[in-house]
Amino acid sequence: MKMTASAQAMRHLRDKRKASGLCTRCGKASETVLCSGCKQQLRSYKKPRIKAAFRKPRKWTATNYSLYRYMVENNISAKKLGEMVGVSERAVLRWVFEKATPKEPVKSKVESLVGDSIF
Ligand SMILES: [Zn+2]
Repeated sequence: MKMTASAQAMRHLRDKRKASGLCTRCGKASETVLCSGCKQQLRSYKKPRIKAAFRKPRKWTATNYSLYRYMVENNISAKKLGEMVGVSERAVLRWVFEKATPKEPVKSKVESLVGDSIF
């Protein structure tokens, strides 16, 4: 990777600070490469990661219509079907709405329930 002159100058400065036991960022005396203040500040730049508790299907259009019809006709919710075959509700929603297919042995479990090869 090619470095610009200023990037090179900064690297040189950081190396010099590191060698003389200073914080490479602010130049204060520090036992570690970065002083605690700089570490704190850099950490604050990071966006907090928010984990989604659930994910809805991207589209509410059934792609696996056979499975969808089976669930509607038998009044089985995605959660209930998931419990019956040992997967999450989300996984079932993906089969019905997002063209996902389960792996064996879950696939055969679902197909034996529905009584047809549906994937
Ligand atoms: Zn510092």
